[in-house]
Amino acid sequence: MCRVIAIANQKGGVGKTTTCVNLGIGLAREGKKVLLVEADAQGSMAVSLGIAEPDELDVTLVNIMEKLINDEDLEPGEGIIHHEEGIDFIPANIELAGMETSLVNVMSRETILRQYLSGLKSQYEYILIDCMPSLGMITINALVAADSVLIPVEAAYLPVKGLQQLIKTIGRVHRKLNPALSIMGILLTKVDRRTNFARDISAQIREAYGDKIHIFENCIPMSVRAAETTAEGKSIYLHDPKGIVANGYRCLTGEVLEHEK
Ligand code: ADP
Ligand code: MG
Repeated sequence: MCRVIAIANQKGGVGKTTTCVNLGIGLAREGKKVLLVEADAQGSMAVSLGIAEPDELDVTLVNIMEKLINDEDLEPGEGIIHHEEGIDFIPANIELAGMETSLVNVMSRETILRQYLSGLKSQYEYILIDCMPSLGMITINALVAADSVLIPVEAAYLPVKGLQQLIKTIGRVHRKLNPALSIMGILLTKVDRRTNFARDISAQIREAYGDKIHIFENCIPMSVRAAETTAEGKSIYLHDPKGIVANGYRCLTGEVLEHEK
């Protein structure tokens, strides 16, 4: 059975891409077959996985979605890249930004990604979708394709308003387009353990949402080591295996595996 997890928050810089890459590779290290899908025009997942110039890629999620929209056939495995750390991924680039508006006139525009991923589910145990920092049509596509949503929240300020909007959108997709969708949990990221501030924020989030939404036990600590991985093109497990961030993502991987039992 394949689980599709969308990693979403319409705020940028909260650790969506870092979480997608390191949870994905974490799951692969536990023996799972994993596909990562970049649904963000920034191409930062591609960069994190070692593609220096995503805008120069010939085949990305954009071409794949265009083919589906035009009812063209896809080659098996088309656009899927194998990464040396044991995962497969589909990158995106700046062209995805244009897709957001062109989808408006497409029939079944919310379900293009679901249609595509349903054909890949037999090959993977986990498909993680790295969402863009917006609640536009591409993110709706990700939520429609997903079984659950993992919400990274930066423990740096009280993100209540943005979170309410995101939760409302997830609820709307659940009611109208994808009754199977659930929220897997809120993951606190970039937690600065030297200050009380992060602890206050996490306590406030637990108080505000803890009775309705699962909040992962493990937080991801703030560390320059995590920031460095983006430029390195490899996971935190190779870049700083003994560090606090690698440990945080290892524990998160365990929690996600536990969640599915
Ligand atoms: P998003 O995908 O939500 O925009 P990213 O994962 O790209 O967020 O992270 C935003 C920035 O923060 C990146 O430069 C990344 O390297 C850095 N970053 C991510 N996680 C951490 C962390 N735990 N500690 C320090 N920096 C981090
Ligand atoms: Mg990102």
